[in-house]
Amino acid sequence: MFVFLGRRADSVKEKLLSENRALKAQWKCLRCHRNDVCIAFLPCGHLVSCEACSTDPSARKCFSCDAAVKARIKAFIA
Ligand SMILES: [Zn+2]
Ligand SMILES: [Zn+2]
Repeated sequence: MFVFLGRRADSVKEKLLSENRALKAQWKCLRCHRNDVCIAFLPCGHLVSCEACSTDPSARKCFSCDAAVKARIKAFIA
C-alpha cells in the first residue's frame, strides 16, 4: 500500500516537473525564439524580449502588442 502511494506521488511529481519544463521552454524571446526573455518593455509591460533583441531597431515596438516602446527594464526571473 505504501509502495503504491509512493509511486503515485512520484508520478505526480514527474508530471509537475515536465509541466514546469514546458513552461520554461515557452519563456523565450518572441523575436529570436532562442534566448530567454529578460527585458520588459514599458509602458506596455510585456516581458517578451531577450537582451540582444531589445537593442535591435525592430524593438522600437513591443514584439507582442506593437505598442511604442518608451523604455526597457532588465528583469530577472528567479
Ligand atoms: Zn531575442
Ligand atoms: Zn506590449
